[in-house]
Amino acid sequence: MDPNGYRLETQAIHAGEPSPRIGGAATVPIFQSTVYEQKEGASYHDIVYPRLSNLPNHIVLARKLAVLEGGEDALVTGSGMAAIATSLLAVLGGGGHLLAQDSLYGGTHNFVTEDLKSFGISYDFIDARRPETWGSKLKANTRAIYVEALTNPLLQVADHRAVAAFARQHNLISLIDNTFATAVNFRPLELGFDLSLHSATKYLNGHTDLVAGAVIGRGELVRKVHHLLNHLGGCLEPHGCYLLYRGLRTLVLRVRQQNASARAIAHFLSKHPQVKKVNYPSLESHPQHELAQTLFQGFGGVLSFDLNGGTAAAQRMIQRVRLPIPGPSLGGVETLITRPSQTSHAGMSKADREQLGISDGLIRFSTGIEAPEDLIEDLDQALKD
Ligand SMILES: *Cc1c(COP(=O)(O)O)cnc(C)c1O
Repeated sequence: MDPNGYRLETQAIHAGEPSPRIGGAATVPIFQSTVYEQKEGASYHDIVYPRLSNLPNHIVLARKLAVLEGGEDALVTGSGMAAIATSLLAVLGGGGHLLAQDSLYGGTHNFVTEDLKSFGISYDFIDARRPETWGSKLKANTRAIYVEALTNPLLQVADHRAVAAFARQHNLISLIDNTFATAVNFRPLELGFDLSLHSATKYLNGHTDLVAGAVIGRGELVRKVHHLLNHLGGCLEPHGCYLLYRGLRTLVLRVRQQNASARAIAHFLSKHPQVKKVNYPSLESHPQHELAQTLFQGFGGVLSFDLNGGTAAAQRMIQRVRLPIPGPSLGGVETLITRPSQTSHAGMSKADREQLGISDGLIRFSTGIEAPEDLIEDLDQALKD
C-alpha cells in the first residue's frame, strides 16, 4: 500500500502497518519482551532490543508518524524532552551555536539556558516574529535554529516560512516543536524544516495517560538522533508504544473537534463583558492573525485569556467551572484549565513573566472533546456575578 496517496484520516489508520499483519492481528500486538532470539551469524545491527527502538511497536509508530507529517523517517522517544534534548545534542554537539525562539516551553528553556553550556554549546535568543533581527545573531559556529509552532501560553506565531528560508540560506538545521499544532494543523517539513519534534504526551497520544515524544524529518538527521538516543537511553517502552499507537489512530478526529471547539470558545470569550483579552489565532485581534491563516489548517485546542478582574477573578472562575479539570498540561480529550503563573511558568520571576505578557491572572484553557455548547454554558455560568 502506498499510504501517501491517502488522506490524513486514512493514513492515521493504515499507514505503517506491518504486512503481512503480525499473527493476523488488526492492531500491532505489544512485544513485551526484552530479549529476542538471535540467529548464528547475525550482526550487531540485527540485535532487537527495546532500548534500540526497533521492536515492531516502535517501527509501526515511526512509519505512521513519518507518513502523517510528510517526513522521510521518524523515531519515538520516552518523553517530549527526550526528543528535544537528544535532537539538540545530536545537531549541536561539539561546539555548535543555537538560535532559539525567546518564549520556549519551560523544560526546553531550562535545558537551553542551564545545560547546553556543559556540552560546549552556546545559544542566542531571537524574536521569531522579526526575521530582520536574526542575521546579526549569526556566528561562525551557528548550526541550528529552533522555534515552536505556537507559543505557550500566548499562542504567538513565528514567521515559520522565513525560519525555513533563513536556515536554507545560512546552512543551518531548522528544528520546530510542533506539539501544539500536530500534522493535522501544521506541516513544517513541507515548508522546508529539517526536524519536527513532539511531546507525544499531548495531542499525539491525546488521552492523558502516557509520557512520550517523537522526532520526524530528514532521514539522515533522524538516524543521527536515533544513534544518540540508543546511547542516552531515552527510549519508549513497548506498552507505552501501544498506547501512543492507539491514541494516534484517532488524532485527526480529536484535533479537528478541538480546533472547532476552541475557536467557538475563543469567539464567545472575546465578546464577554468580563473578559479583557483572548489569545487565539482565529481572532482578528491576534497580532499574527493573517500570517497564521496562511500557515495553519486549524489553530488547535489551546487558548488563553485575561479577565477584567485580574487574578482574583481568575481564581474565582477556576473554582466555579464544573467541566474543566484544574491542572497543567494540554492536548487530552478532557478540558483543562490553569493559570500558567502558578504552573508552567511558576519557575520564572513575576517580572520576567510580565515582560513576556503573562499576567498572574492569565488563564490557559486546553479544550477537550466535550460538546462545545456544554463548555460554553459552563464558562458562562462561571463568569456570572
Ligand atoms: C509538554 C511539552 C514538552 C515536553 O514534553 P514531555 O512529554 O513532558 O517531556 C515540550 N514542548 C511542548 C510544547 C510541550 O507542551
